[in-house]
Amino acid sequence: MSCNLCHQTRFNLVANTDAKSGAPLNVYFCEFCGLIQQSPLPSADQLHDYYSTSYRLDYKGTWHPKPKHIFRSVRCARSRLEFLRKSGIRDGLLLDIGASSGEFVALARQAGFDASGVEPNQGYAEYARSEYHIPVTTAGLNQIEGQYDVITLFHVLEHLLSPAEVFQHLHSLLKPDGKLFIEVPWVLSGSIAPSNRYFKAHLYYFDVETLQASASAYFDVISTCVLGNLRMIMQPRPAIAPLSLPSADYLAALPARLHRQGWLNYLTHGGGFFKLADKVHRLWQENRVSRLRGREIITLCDRLPK
Ligand SMILES: [Zn+2]
Repeated sequence: MSCNLCHQTRFNLVANTDAKSGAPLNVYFCEFCGLIQQSPLPSADQLHDYYSTSYRLDYKGTWHPKPKHIFRSVRCARSRLEFLRKSGIRDGLLLDIGASSGEFVALARQAGFDASGVEPNQGYAEYARSEYHIPVTTAGLNQIEGQYDVITLFHVLEHLLSPAEVFQHLHSLLKPDGKLFIEVPWVLSGSIAPSNRYFKAHLYYFDVETLQASASAYFDVISTCVLGNLRMIMQPRPAIAPLSLPSADYLAALPARLHRQGWLNYLTHGGGFFKLADKVHRLWQENRVSRLRGREIITLCDRLPK
């Protein structure tokens, strides 16, 4: 294997088991740039088939979104729109790649964006169109054309075969003064349970430095937010630049930082003990929406505190 980012070939093992299924799964970090990646990677055909068909079934147990998933999606969409607003991005032609059941596109349109989406899963894309009457097409990343003011990818990049190629393609889809908003799981977040950190669907695992480095040939980072997830807003470089890789100090500290991400850290520093109370509250809220449809859930969430 060679690293998707720096093309070097020296790796250290980070995990050898799929945390969700218990099946063998090898995840490594690159000694030269720190990017964490699965190996071997699936083929492009295998990946296409997986996301067109069984992915939602594997992880959500359904072909169509359940009310509790829509509820979570609405709350995430509101938080992401707030991040855009605070970053001074309030309107324009917006494309959400990996639009899922469409809640972000629906709320972005309400907020003033001319928003549309693409989603590889047919059931979810159909739901978005019929429930919210919004333009969500069933397409893969390579089929997208056009020039956008804002492109958003929420929990998509880590599922794709080559982050380097994704950034190249996204650069071609953005207007010169456009903005790219990416959110991925943060690999060093203490609030991810060890039972949830490394698994088959995620081919790459990003920290601030490695996400910035992956984009560095094509994008400058203008805003970063790290909580449970890692959010970045980037703008296209006027000309392609050489890659900017993480520093030697970062690479030297990475093994110890990865090693610390066990159950003890999760339960203490990561807030794991408090998650039980959070979960009870969330189950209560999700029970309230269990018979509602998407539009009703959006209306309900409009009345909840942000
Ligand atoms: Zn590398």
